[in-house]
Parts: sequence; C-alpha cells; structure tokens
Amino acid sequence: MLRLHDTATGAVAPIASRDPGAVGLYVCGPTVYGPPHVGHGRFVLVYDVLRRYLERSGYVVRHVSNVTDIDDKIIARAAAEGRDWTDVAAESEEQWWAAMDAMGVLRPTEVPHATDYVGEMADLVSDLVARGVAYETSDGVYLSCDAVEGYGLLAHQCLDSLRAGARVAVADEKRSPVDFALWKKAKPDEPTWPSPFGPGRPGWHTECVVMSLALLGDGFDLHGGGLDLVFPHHENERAQAVATGRAFARHWVHNGLVMVGGEKMSKSLGNVTDLAELVAGADPRAYRLLVLRAHYRSPLEVSPATLDDAASALARVDELARRIGRVERDAGVRGTPEAVGNVSEVGAAERAKFAEAMDDDLGTPRALAGLLGAVRRANVLLDGGDPAGGLTLARAALELLAVLGLEPRAAEQASDEVLGIIHRRDAARAGRDFAAADSLRAELEERGWIVEDGPAGTQVRR
Ligand SMILES: [Zn+2]
Repeated sequence: MLRLHDTATGAVAPIASRDPGAVGLYVCGPTVYGPPHVGHGRFVLVYDVLRRYLERSGYVVRHVSNVTDIDDKIIARAAAEGRDWTDVAAESEEQWWAAMDAMGVLRPTEVPHATDYVGEMADLVSDLVARGVAYETSDGVYLSCDAVEGYGLLAHQCLDSLRAGARVAVADEKRSPVDFALWKKAKPDEPTWPSPFGPGRPGWHTECVVMSLALLGDGFDLHGGGLDLVFPHHENERAQAVATGRAFARHWVHNGLVMVGGEKMSKSLGNVTDLAELVAGADPRAYRLLVLRAHYRSPLEVSPATLDDAASALARVDELARRIGRVERDAGVRGTPEAVGNVSEVGAAERAKFAEAMDDDLGTPRALAGLLGAVRRANVLLDGGDPAGGLTLARAALELLAVLGLEPRAAEQASDEVLGIIHRRDAARAGRDFAAADSLRAELEERGWIVEDGPAGTQVRR
C-alpha cells in the first residue's frame, strides 16, 4: 500500500482512503495569466505519476485540478495590453494544455474553472459571516483566523508567530495581519459578480476550498500542490472548511520547488524557464525523467546537462524497445521465449522491487534507477544469447516505465521488403561478402533507415 508524507503530521503514513478502492485527489492548478514555466511542469508531472501509480495499484482516481481564471495578475496583464481579461485567460489556458499534452500528462478527470463557481463561493462567504468568523470592511470580507481552531496546522506554527511574521499594510482595516480576503469588493474597471456584500470577486483561497469540496465531497483523500502553497494558500483553504464544520483533506502532499543554477526559480529573480520552450527543445519525456530522478519533496535542479543526461537514458530505453521487437520477430520463428525456463520470476521480481520503491513515499528515484538498471541487464542477457531471460526482463522494465509515463517512442515497423534486405545483408556479412553488405546498407539508407551493426546483426531505425 502506498505510504505518503503528510504535511499536516510531518510523517509518512498509508493512504487511508475515504471510500474503499477510490481516491479523490485535488491539486491546485494554474492561474492562467501567462505561459507555464518549468516549476508548473514539475508539479503537474509529480501528480500525474502519483495518479498513474494509484491507478496501477487498483484505485479508481478522481483527479480534480482547477484553473484560476480570474485573478489580479490576469486583470493586470489584460489592462497593460488593452485586452479583455477573458481573452488573456483563454489564451494562457490554451498554452497550458498544449505544454501538458506535449509532456504526455493525463488530463485531470475534472477541471473546474473558478468563474463557474462564484455563486457557491459567495454562499460560503455568507455562511462564514453568519457564523461570526468573517467580517466585512470597506474593501472586502475577511476571515478572522483567531476564530479558527488549529489555525497554523500546516505551517507548523502557532497563530502568534504567524501574526508576528505577517506583513501589515498601511491603513489596513483587518483585525489581524493574518486575516485574509474571502471576497474582494469591486474596484473600477474590474470584472465583478453579485454578492450579499455588493459586487466583487472571490479571494483565491476561497476558490479552491469551494471547488474541492463541491467535486470531491467532505473529507476527501488527498490535497496536493507545490511547497510554496502550504502557507498561506492551503492553510487558508483548510481554515474555511474548519470554520464551517466541514471535514477537509485527509492527507496533504506537497512537492519541492525547481532550482535554476542553485537558486529557487522565481519571476523576481528573472530565472524563469518557459516550459513549452524546454519541451520543444528536447525529447519531451526528458523533463519527466529528470523530475522523477529527484524525490518529489526535494528541490529539483534543472540544467542543460541534467536534461541531456535524461535524454540519453531515454535513448537507451527506445533502443531496447526496438531490440526486443527484433528478438520477438526471430523468436516467432523459433518458438515463444516464455516457454524456455522459469523466466517469469524475473518479471515478478522487477514488479515487486518497483512497487516497494513507489509505495515508500513515491520513491521514484529508486524505482527509476532499478528500471534503468534492468534495461542494462536485459541488454547483457540478449548479448549473451539468453533471449528468453532478456526479453522477460526487458518487457517488465518497459511495462513499469510506462506506469511512470515513460513509454518508449514508437519505432516505425520495417516492411517485409526492408526485412528482406536486412536478411540478405546479414547473410552477406556472414559470408564475408562485404561489398554486397555495403551495397545493401546503402539501399537501406536510401530508404531513410539508419543502419547499425549490433551483436544480433543489422539493426535499422528511423
Ligand atoms: Zn488552490
């Protein structure tokens, strides 16, 4: 069973799901005001792999990830560019999905948009005011954090120390610097929605608590996001649920941040790397592999060298996939390799090692190292003339890499005619007729194939 670190308790604990056999996962999605950067790519890949692994483990996963399509940053960019805010949000969301599709990320089962839930958000704010835990000021409605039992649970800080660390704005009408806006009253030239407190728009923290509970229900299983969201965003989501007496997430998962050149990547440092650019510039699977090589809670260093290294590992995976295709074709003539010896145990052992690593707080670095090791060992077995053992190991490795979303690139199948040329070339080489072998190689290259001589004879790839 999968055990995950829980930010609330600070301990690694089994996922005890609310409904047997099912997991509800809420992941804070993007605020769509610009193109995604590599930090976004990391969190999406982490939760994509968590979901894939839960599904592999037999759970039905309801994966909800929101789109914040109304926000200060969207309004600011629209105003700066003289555009409609909906236009900025729609364009940015399109860029988001294009990058996610390029990385082979599974679409969440639901993608709620904040603007579709504004009525429910206003209802929650009214409820909090009625309960006496929220109050109105001239510019909005705020939650009184003092009134919330256990505020500071995720931050692992008491209210006093949070209050001491909070920024106090000039002429702030808030009763405490940690109190946060549930509803922002209308300002000139901003989009607004009606509410009992006058026209305005919801605060960001109110969006996620409403959408997660609306779609996953009280006491849903997993709430995830980047480490930078623990406080105040997730603390404040939780505070609203607690204040209305509703059970919130049972387990909190947070992923580490992306570092560039040893520093946290951030807009203010100017070291933000565009995700679409990164994916377009290399094998799009390379970033996924790089992300999985680091434990999800650790910082991740992204550099051209680490990406190149990831791409080389993938090239070896692709080559093994092509190689087993050839071995299987040969085996078709000679009989099924599984019939030879007791090789199925090899696959079972690989699967057990993989599950052990993954179950231990989503240990992708160990799981991945094991699988890439299996790729090497499979090649050794195939080189050594043990096609049955090599094939079994290779198939298990490729099957498990696919669980991580690292499928080998589909190799183009050589036609019978091309296979005929390969066969004639191997025969020519065996008969030491190198002139004929060279001319057959030229024939293959003319047809667009890259020709390599391996231990098993002529190998072709596009
Ligand atoms: Zn959120």
